[in-house]
Amino acid sequence: MTNPPMSLPDHIQHYIDGVLVDSVDGATFDVLEPTTNRAYITCSSGSQADVDLAVSAAKRAFEEGPWPRMLPRQRATILNRIADEVAALNEDLAAIESFDSGLPIRQAKGQANRAAENFRFFADLIVAQVDGAFRMPDRQVNYVNRKPLGVAGLITPWNTPFMQESWKLAPALASGCTVILKPAEFTPVSAHLWAGIMERAGVPQGVFNIIHGFGESAGDALVKHPDVPLISFTGELGTGKVIYSNCARNMKHMSMELGGKSPAVVFADADFESALDSTLFGVYSLNGERCTASSRILVERPIYDRFVVAYAERAKKIVVGPPSDPKTEIAALVHPEHYRKVTEYIKIGKGEARLVAGGERPEHLPEGNYVQATVFADVPPTARIFQEEIFGPVVSITPFDTDEEAIALANDVEYGLAAYVWTNSIARAHNVSHAIDSGMVWINSHNVRDLRTPFGGVKGSGLGHEGGYRSLDFYSVQQSIHVTLGDVHTTRFGATGYADNDLGLGGPSA
Ligand code: NAD
Repeated sequence: MTNPPMSLPDHIQHYIDGVLVDSVDGATFDVLEPTTNRAYITCSSGSQADVDLAVSAAKRAFEEGPWPRMLPRQRATILNRIADEVAALNEDLAAIESFDSGLPIRQAKGQANRAAENFRFFADLIVAQVDGAFRMPDRQVNYVNRKPLGVAGLITPWNTPFMQESWKLAPALASGCTVILKPAEFTPVSAHLWAGIMERAGVPQGVFNIIHGFGESAGDALVKHPDVPLISFTGELGTGKVIYSNCARNMKHMSMELGGKSPAVVFADADFESALDSTLFGVYSLNGERCTASSRILVERPIYDRFVVAYAERAKKIVVGPPSDPKTEIAALVHPEHYRKVTEYIKIGKGEARLVAGGERPEHLPEGNYVQATVFADVPPTARIFQEEIFGPVVSITPFDTDEEAIALANDVEYGLAAYVWTNSIARAHNVSHAIDSGMVWINSHNVRDLRTPFGGVKGSGLGHEGGYRSLDFYSVQQSIHVTLGDVHTTRFGATGYADNDLGLGGPSA
């Protein structure tokens, strides 16, 4: 095992009310390094008592502190300072993320800048934000009084963890909420950087808090806490269902970004090489641990055999190696538990379809969570590897004959996060995209997007769309204020015999 990349403490602590602290009961868990699965650092393991402390600090900061009351420009200035601090960590963050989560170092490099961009983007939005005001001539003026919702609970997954955290922290803080972040237990190390970043940027005490630990204890306590009116969750569908029902007890506001089994539909008239490059990148980048991975490739029959052969050839040449090596294209999966899940699916796939590449541990990497880029062809839609999210470097390829069949196959899963359509026919590209049940579609493209666009899934891939102003809406209450101008006209109940008592001049209302 190489050494951790920068001076990290031996032990990662919670961050509550501006102070790094251990768990009330002293509990910790080991953090593993994915190339050897040896414990290299310990982390505080939160439970109800720790969550209670963090929530009361965040509640106090929300009710009594300056953060929700600042002018948008003042908060934006601090958000921009956070962005500067994040961007300055570039190399260190990439090294930590790569070491802790197994992300290939070359792919980890952009993470800091993307995270910084999230803060700059929401800083700009709150300064430019316009809320509605509506005049009913001589009768009323109505306007929107936008208010932050309160203490936001942010629960995040282990894939590109720091980036995922920034995606929630930036709009929550921009909106004026105070927050409690519960990072994923597989990858808590980069989250530790946030405490220093927030302090140096001037975020007031108690506004930002972190509770580390397991979902079933720390996460569950946060979800069920009555003083946390909002939960933003990214993770698996199964976890999402549990959180959904737990939120119901307190009627919490919820946003759920869940898993995917996204189709890439490749028509015979597509640019073959571009579709090949993009579908390889779509499955194997980030070790295949990518929610929007194009993990099912549907290929039109006339080019099917050629596509499968070319895809398998390329997959066999993908460089699997240590995360720290710049030549590595796929590195170690995050954790032995996840490795077991992925390799179990490969075993299942061998009984369901035709293995055309990979399927084993690379010979030159006898330990750690390594698996070859794996390709299954002729995968029937009933196969588990067609239906279930594997979240690793494994792809299913299936042929189709007509547009209708392609659409039916694309929609024949529980998920609906992303889809990719490859064709040079303009009408077909749009018609097929419109017919696919997914939150997002990329036509002749892999997933690049403008931060202003909606992000989210349908069906089992999520509830609610974030992205741009939608994120600010999620973290805010939009209170309608209605003010009478001039005389108030009211239907007068209990005033029989008076003139004009039942004309209903109060104006239209629902
Ligand atoms: P997970 O559901 O196991 O865990 C996610 C987070 O939820 C972790 O912090 C975990 O501790 C916490 N958690 C677990 N049980 C909980 C409970 N009962 N109450 C409260 N919190 C609980 O997911 P994961 O394995 O960390 O992440 C991978 C999944 O995330 C994949 O399904 C992937 O597709 C999905 N994902 C989706 C998006 C998206 O934007 N749609 C983005 C990234 C990842």
